[in-house]
Amino acid sequence: MAEIRFVEHQITARVPELGNATNVIDAGLTIRIDPLTGHSARILHQGQLAPTVRTDLTQLTAPPPFCPFCEDKLEEATGVIDAAITDEGRIRRGVSAVVPNVLAYSEFSSVGLYDTTRHFVGLRELTPLLIGDLMCGLVAYARGVGGVRPMWHSINANYLPPAGSSVVHPHAQTAHDDIGTTAQRTLMAASERWPGNFWRDLIETEAGGPRWLGTRGRVRVLTPWAPIGFHEVWLVLPELRDILELTDEDCADLGAVLSGVLSGYDALDLASFNWALYGGGPHPSDKYGLLLRMVSRANPDPVYRSDVTYFERLHAEAMIDMAPEEVAQRLAPHLQSAVTI
Ligand SMILES: [Zn+2]
Repeated sequence: MAEIRFVEHQITARVPELGNATNVIDAGLTIRIDPLTGHSARILHQGQLAPTVRTDLTQLTAPPPFCPFCEDKLEEATGVIDAAITDEGRIRRGVSAVVPNVLAYSEFSSVGLYDTTRHFVGLRELTPLLIGDLMCGLVAYARGVGGVRPMWHSINANYLPPAGSSVVHPHAQTAHDDIGTTAQRTLMAASERWPGNFWRDLIETEAGGPRWLGTRGRVRVLTPWAPIGFHEVWLVLPELRDILELTDEDCADLGAVLSGVLSGYDALDLASFNWALYGGGPHPSDKYGLLLRMVSRANPDPVYRSDVTYFERLHAEAMIDMAPEEVAQRLAPHLQSAVTI
């Protein structure tokens, strides 16, 4: 096993004290380097970026006169999936549904609703069953696309407008083409360069440590050393190379863990999130272990501070105010029934 080096730099800045500007104080900052990709993350020691009040979502999430994803409109407002991908038309598992995306984000793209029977589903209502069923439907779609020809697959979610969602009805999306995304290509190239399998080495190194959250089936749960976003959590399936290899049982396990993480987010007064499950590309490699990365986003307050500053948008560098070890500590109670340590 190759040794994973967790490099960090402690920086001290001399800054005027908040509320007492004539007094100059030492303020610490930690910069961490991701052991696989080399990207860096800034962890502020003065936590000032977390929401201070719980966002009232009543108005934002009230059912509108027309929503294409509510059950009464779904059949007329959405198309059916090409027969070359599935003969199911719309893929339904439980109360979830997968339909073709009307926007061409990718050569093939689908939208999946966690629940067509409710316009809005709050974080604590996104149960293991709801997320697991949706994941099964989205994987079925991906497998159908995979039958067309080998390509890059990803399954992704925006939840509420701060996360980039234009539709409030909670949904996830898949993307499939020959090019993949920057993150996918970077992860794969870095995994290929690692001597051995980085993902297995990571799990072996992190198990039981301060960022470790536990195991469910083939899913390993932890917070990353150098996050790219707030409250970031990783679900890693080190034995799997691609999304197409996920079984229904894996999907149920992913659902259970994600549901626990979302309960934890809710307890932290967070309201919006993204997640991405990165398939390993058209030439699946034994050097890769399937990764789902989840981050919280800014709360949808009328005037909100975006969690994305010039650091994230233009320097590809997260600036966060809660260390991954603390994120793990805060989320752990909410994952107790979902994982074994
Ligand atoms: Zn709706």
